[in-house]
Amino acid sequence: MSQFPQQDIKFLTGVGPKKAEQLNKELQIFSYGDLLRYYPYKYLDRSKVYSIREIDASAAYIQLRGKITGFQREGAKPKERLVAKFTDGTGTVDLVFFKGLKYLLTNLKINQEYLLLGKPSQFNGQINFVHPELEDVSKVDSNISYSLQPFYNTTEKLKSNFLHSKAIEKIMATLWRNVKERIPETLPASLIHRAKLLPLHDALLNIHFPQSHDLLKRAQFRLKFEELFFIQLDLLFQKHVRLSHIDGLIFKTAGEYLNTFYSQNLPFPLTDAQKRVMKEIRRDLGSGKQMNRLLQGDVGSGKTLVALMTMLIAAANGYQSCLMVPTEILANQHFKSISKYLNGIDIQIQLLTGSTTKAARKKIHTGLADGSLHLLVGTHALLEDIVQFNNLGLVIIDEQHRFGVAQRAKLWQKNTKPPHILVMTATPIPRTLAMTVYGDLDVSVIDQLPPGRKPIQTMHYFDSRRLPMFGFLKKQIEAGRQAYIVYPLIKESENLDLKYLEDGYEGFSRVFPPPQYNISVVHGKMKNEEKDFSMRHFASGKAQIMIATTVIEVGVDVPNATVMVIENAERFGLSQLHQLRGRVGRGGEQSYCILMTSYKLSSEARKRIQAMVSTNDGFELAELDMKLRGPGDLEGTQQSGMAFDLKIANIAQDGQILQYARDLATEILEDDPTLGRPENQVLKSYFTTLRNRPVNWGMIS
Ligand code: ADP
Ligand code: MG
Repeated sequence: MSQFPQQDIKFLTGVGPKKAEQLNKELQIFSYGDLLRYYPYKYLDRSKVYSIREIDASAAYIQLRGKITGFQREGAKPKERLVAKFTDGTGTVDLVFFKGLKYLLTNLKINQEYLLLGKPSQFNGQINFVHPELEDVSKVDSNISYSLQPFYNTTEKLKSNFLHSKAIEKIMATLWRNVKERIPETLPASLIHRAKLLPLHDALLNIHFPQSHDLLKRAQFRLKFEELFFIQLDLLFQKHVRLSHIDGLIFKTAGEYLNTFYSQNLPFPLTDAQKRVMKEIRRDLGSGKQMNRLLQGDVGSGKTLVALMTMLIAAANGYQSCLMVPTEILANQHFKSISKYLNGIDIQIQLLTGSTTKAARKKIHTGLADGSLHLLVGTHALLEDIVQFNNLGLVIIDEQHRFGVAQRAKLWQKNTKPPHILVMTATPIPRTLAMTVYGDLDVSVIDQLPPGRKPIQTMHYFDSRRLPMFGFLKKQIEAGRQAYIVYPLIKESENLDLKYLEDGYEGFSRVFPPPQYNISVVHGKMKNEEKDFSMRHFASGKAQIMIATTVIEVGVDVPNATVMVIENAERFGLSQLHQLRGRVGRGGEQSYCILMTSYKLSSEARKRIQAMVSTNDGFELAELDMKLRGPGDLEGTQQSGMAFDLKIANIAQDGQILQYARDLATEILEDDPTLGRPENQVLKSYFTTLRNRPVNWGMIS
């Protein structure tokens, strides 16, 4: 019996080798334990029978009880269908079947009582049910006593082999009849007691065959909690290993460089949020532990400055720093603005990108090796093995969601003692997600924009209003401002109804002709020199309009630009729209974002556009984005190295349970960092099998 959860599913009565193979392949169910963990996705309250009079097409999956009064075949092959009249005395609905007509006609009986399960829909003003399930009332399985019927997801393949939801339910019932002892618990008794959790055995029973609404809720809570708890335990445990086994470089002093910069070069006071974050960073740097910090801050909140000041601290302590960014444009820009900030301070800085010349590279390599070069700004080019530092003490990664874990790790290895790490992102990640994806990182937030910024006004125009949009642009340009026009993609797919950037360019050139106007173009297919030339043309004010693809999404800073027009805005995700909008509103002038869309908008696109118009708050948008798209699709989660195979918990909805699970996991680890106590043995063993990878317990002190 202790072997029960590991039993091969093929030995279960009613399964056998053939069905087992299908369950393996389609649902990754191999063992009894896997089946127990295959949870229903919904339940139908079978104790509730609706009457036809009270339902409308908006109702969910419901149950009716009544009789078929007649059949009619309608339409001709291949669109032939069977329509049955179904009545319960309060009204009549149509049941419509497109498949299996012969079978239905021989098996369904007129005037026989049926329980109907289905979702009503509306057709020609009439309520009907398409392919409802019908059960003979007299034959409803009395073996299983439930009021809440579970529904299981299956695949087309499984259904064609008769493994539909009902069949899985039957197999599940058989499995439970085979359960002779209680299913082994995965959480310590003290934790179950403390969090008032249902024991695993009862939770699993009630998740499949709820004895009541209340027990179902408790079962769901217990299983969600468990799922999130183990993720947090894993993350926190790894953090503990990192902190206790890796000595951090100690930066004792803030140093002269920072002082000089602060008192002489900084043109404005820091915001309170910037000051707070600097304090958090300085505490890390002096702690003797390796810093591993995520800095979140909305676009324009002044993260670059924080990065620079941190690098100055490193330099004062005798360490080199590097700043890695995802695009060449951004690298150039950071290099220039940082160089300007360093005016009069004795710090050597260089730029390394794909287009750095051989000769310049050579000089950089030498400067890195002999330690005379303090600061290196660059793109992926920094990762190359040939780039070797004398004493790398700090790694900063900007727009970190554009890089993978492996790339982060590569930078770690550029010193024998791992450098401090600061990753920055302007794509705000909802707190709950940050806790899961970046659970190993400490998080700092700049939640404040520099003073004097006027909130960007966002407007939504349908394409039919291009003329007013042009007029608006003209006025802004006459007032001395500049504008970005952004297109979703360039020639990526011919059949997508996109206005290509080239078309757009022609259109704008007609309305804004030379020599009075100048238009720059930047897109991903251009050579680097061309891109750079165009960017400079715009940044210097020579061009009033910049037409671009999303290459400008990240970090570009032209304070005089006040209008961001986003074409086909419906094609962009919410976080991307917000990023693009952040390219304007960087100077003192009122800025605008115009979202151009076609008339046809999906309901999700409409929600995104509405959200953009109604708020400038990146975190609010990020939360909404997560709800609209689900956490798995959020930028940054795919590359994060964290598999998102949650079976029951939902990061977007279960934030509170997540927080609770994290708190309790923290307490347990504080109390017993190695999970060595007998009562925590159960965690250690389940944890190891769950993660399916060896945890090196020997490493733990
Ligand atoms: P982020 O990288 O967070 O999007 P940046 O670092 O590019 O933002 O800063 C945006 C702009 O705000 C820059 O032009 C920068 O000089 C300016 N800035 C940064 N901090 C302050 C501050 N405390 N007060 C005024 N302006 C600031
Ligand atoms: Mg930035």
